[in-house]
Amino acid sequence: MATETKQTTGARTGEQFLAGLKGEGREIWLEGEKVTDPATHPKLEGAARSLARLFDLQHEDPETFLFPSPDTGQPVNVTHVQPKRREDLERRRVASKRIADATGGMMGRTPDYLNYTFACFAARADVWARYGNEEGARNLVEYQRLMRDNDLSLTHTLINPQVDRSVAEADQLGGEISLHKVGDTENGIVVRGARMLATLAPFADELAVYPGSDLRLQDAKYAICFSIPMDTRGLKFICRDSYSSRRDPFDYPLSTRFDEMDAVAIFDDVEIPRDRLFLDGDPQLHSEVITDSHWRAHIIHQAMTRAWAKLEFAFGMAHTMAELTGVNSFDHVQEKLGEMWTMMELTRAGVIAAEAGSFQAEGDGIDDWVPDERSFVALRGVMPKWIPRAIELMQLVGGGGFMTTPSKADFEGPMRELIDKYFQGRNAPAERRVRAYRLAWDFVGSALGGRGELYERFYLQDSFRMTALAYLLADKKHPTELVEQFLVD
Ligand SMILES: Cc1cc2nc3c(=O)[nH]c(=O)nc-3n(C[C@H](O)[C@H](O)[C@H](O)COP(=O)(O)OP(=O)(O)OC[C@H]3O[C@@H](n4cnc5c(N)ncnc54)[C@H](O)[C@@H]3O)c2cc1C
Repeated sequence: MATETKQTTGARTGEQFLAGLKGEGREIWLEGEKVTDPATHPKLEGAARSLARLFDLQHEDPETFLFPSPDTGQPVNVTHVQPKRREDLERRRVASKRIADATGGMMGRTPDYLNYTFACFAARADVWARYGNEEGARNLVEYQRLMRDNDLSLTHTLINPQVDRSVAEADQLGGEISLHKVGDTENGIVVRGARMLATLAPFADELAVYPGSDLRLQDAKYAICFSIPMDTRGLKFICRDSYSSRRDPFDYPLSTRFDEMDAVAIFDDVEIPRDRLFLDGDPQLHSEVITDSHWRAHIIHQAMTRAWAKLEFAFGMAHTMAELTGVNSFDHVQEKLGEMWTMMELTRAGVIAAEAGSFQAEGDGIDDWVPDERSFVALRGVMPKWIPRAIELMQLVGGGGFMTTPSKADFEGPMRELIDKYFQGRNAPAERRVRAYRLAWDFVGSALGGRGELYERFYLQDSFRMTALAYLLADKKHPTELVEQFLVD
């Protein structure tokens, strides 16, 4: 067993996390350059530091963040817990909320996201072991121990590239585009193709691949799940432009800190060692592992906790702007602020409702405590609309104030006296007003702000299909009974 024979780190410090990201073996390409050390790269260092801060946070507040590893006894992050009771759900949510609060919800893929995923998969090894996949299920359980006990940071990539969505993924350009298996080796399998996006790639130790869409039964070679180190030979990432502004944090308070980066993952004949292979060639199992492991309920627990923090942050910014210019004295502005508060509160209520209705998964020997997913399915459909709506409402509250925002250099230059006079807020000095509006602009209007909006629209698939799914999953029994009682004499 990996955890018995290898030394483990337990919960890491920020410094340990950053040291682990260095290496010539990684092929992460950013604006034409290979990145070998994100922690010192001028376009990545801000986010690297913010993530390192989250690793340090767990040592500053062990009561919130740490619990003893069931295998090693070392303190490990509580977001790796396999919940056995409602209190476990609440405890990991408190930790995730602290993480989301520390980043204003701006980083969607802080490592707790995949910690929930693999804890959920390992707790349901029985599902992964179906149809003779016992070895894959064992590998997965071992892997979850490894990531938990070494505090690994993971990225994941689920969706195949957008070459032609009108045909099955396996049919795109003769089947060569989507990630697929091309052969077996003595030690494992070889895979080729690409996956559309892996957020957090420069800041990850490992890359996970698991199902993101259903496959046809004839598409067995596309049914593969595994996790591998980022420096695995043949694994390459091409990043989008960096939005991490090299300006002073005064000017871009969020872009300088929270650009978590997105990258296309290319598998240029990558060998996946057998002990890192969780599923190999079974499209039926590929579609069952997500639904039957209750992954949706567990992952949306993390996702809506972060969304709650992000809506709180947005509401806080809108309220601060409105106070600074006095526009919250107008009833229609109050209505807009009230709408933002409502979205935030309904998200909080949805998270608590899912915990309140949580239950023990059914089945012999199964020990998995699952959130009630109904409020999560509802929120998953509306959140891609709510956060863009919150952004729109912030624009309507802020008006042209976003454009009356001199930079730090202006504050330090000869115009300071005039700025202090003409850029004041209501009962607030110019610097406070400008800082608040610059912060809000980094949320609603900067390159990072635009990316954040797109992320919320799509990171859990689109709102259209998710809301349709809400209808398909809905328990229609009682609503139908209410109707039926009036359809008979
Ligand atoms: C910022 C960002 C970060 C991301 N990070 C990750 C990540 O870390 N890991 C990861 O795996 N994925 C990631 N994703 C990808 C995300 O999972 C996809 O964006 C999402 O699944 C939607 O797929 P798509 O972008 O290919 O859009 P498409 O599926 O191409 O959709 C584009 C439009 O076509 C419509 N459409 C497409 N197909 C259909 C259909 N069959 N029926 C009806 N309408 C359809 C959609 O509704 C939408 O309006 C990220 C996306 C973004 C924007």
